[in-house]
Amino acid sequence: MCLVLDKLEPQKSIDTELICFSIKSIVSMGHYKMGIFVQKYGGSSLATPELIKAVAQRIVERKRRGDKLVIVVSAMGDTTDELISLAQRITSNPPKRELDMLLTVGERISASLLSMAINSLGEEAISFTGSQTGIITDERHTEARILEVRPERVKEELARGKIVIVAGFQGVSTEREITTLGRGGSDTTAVALALALGTKDCEIYTDVDGVFTADPRIVPEAHKLDEILYEEMLELSSMGAGVLHPRSVEMAAKNDIVLHVCSSFNQKKGTIVKRGTVEKPVLRGITFDKQIAMLALKDVPRSPESLSQIVTQMAEEGIHVKLFCHGAAREETVDLIFIVEETDFEGALKILRKASRNLGAKRLLTGMDVGSVSIVGLGIGRDTEILAKMFKILAGLRLHIQAVSTSESKITCVIKKKAVEEAVRTLHREFGL
Ligand code: ADP
Ligand code: ASP
Ligand code: MG
Repeated sequence: MCLVLDKLEPQKSIDTELICFSIKSIVSMGHYKMGIFVQKYGGSSLATPELIKAVAQRIVERKRRGDKLVIVVSAMGDTTDELISLAQRITSNPPKRELDMLLTVGERISASLLSMAINSLGEEAISFTGSQTGIITDERHTEARILEVRPERVKEELARGKIVIVAGFQGVSTEREITTLGRGGSDTTAVALALALGTKDCEIYTDVDGVFTADPRIVPEAHKLDEILYEEMLELSSMGAGVLHPRSVEMAAKNDIVLHVCSSFNQKKGTIVKRGTVEKPVLRGITFDKQIAMLALKDVPRSPESLSQIVTQMAEEGIHVKLFCHGAAREETVDLIFIVEETDFEGALKILRKASRNLGAKRLLTGMDVGSVSIVGLGIGRDTEILAKMFKILAGLRLHIQAVSTSESKITCVIKKKAVEEAVRTLHREFGL
């Protein structure tokens, strides 16, 4: 699977005095020196007024140690889900522009409340929306990409000694419309700001102690990793590990920003996500995704253009093909298998119905009752012993593997949805993670 890296480049307009160090960026502004840190707090860390006050306390203590802080926040608890279901109660197909107007409210609430909490503890804070922060995106409502960050106002307020609170997950498009960055997108806001402000690190505070070998809510014996490489983290999050937004990892990798994933509830050392190499392939973690759908065109007459036509149409409709597999290849026909997000199923079905007729495929099969399990580790996609072991473990659970996809750093098997969690626990145990 290829990585589509964000086109975001380091800001050319940043002060020339801005010098980056590995842990701390010391910025010379006026006559004094200070370190800028970007921190992000997730929704469960801000779910109640009490939790917001506790986060404010942590931030104030850090500020009093002399750090300049930019804090990115997510919406409180399940606010985003609640806003989506509110929209669904009005219409089953809300216009994406209006959905963005609605969803950005969640992060505005937590940003303003956190700012109030900090001010009441005696430190000055100011909250900004994505647009006030200067986060410029493309026009793809609900899945916008950051094109540029113009953090002038952020820098001005930092220079005044204020703590800047930024509503995550949102920006303003080149057409001056309010946009959102996709579910979990506040992580990406934080990394984009770290990049724009010239810091080489970004701190992500969440409701677990770091990145684990598997989702600790599904695999109780999963353990926290001290470090993980960008490539591995990207595969984990792209294939379902919600702990980091995949695009935040892409952007961090492309720009060498070290991510520190830690708990917002304690002071334990978290996980560092960074560049590196391994001597031999090592299995790092296991993840799963139950929100996918499979569509298969069977017996498609071979033609060099068929696949590119379909993939182009999917891209034009904003449908992200999570996995693509070439099924059984016969002399004259092939099977084409697409795995998409559940929410893209109807759109993908429309395209494949048309393609099926145009290309003369024998059948179009679809399945919503599927999920994926992925094992991740740099180099494991080339290791046939690991591949064989994964197949053996799944066979031991009497599971039919409906599709397989490998890359340099991952092996993914599509199986029936109901078996996914047991498969994850068994793989975790049998691989000795
Ligand atoms: P936040 O609100 O802080 O952004 P998220 O819910 O987006 O938090 O992400 C944290 C959640 O990610 C955890 O509660 C955990 O259930 C889930 N998760 C999935 N895979 C992993 C993993 N490998 N390591 C840690 N957490 C994981
Ligand atoms: N509040 C948004 C969501 O729930 C963004 C985020 O949490 O990062 O997806
Ligand atoms: Mg998140």
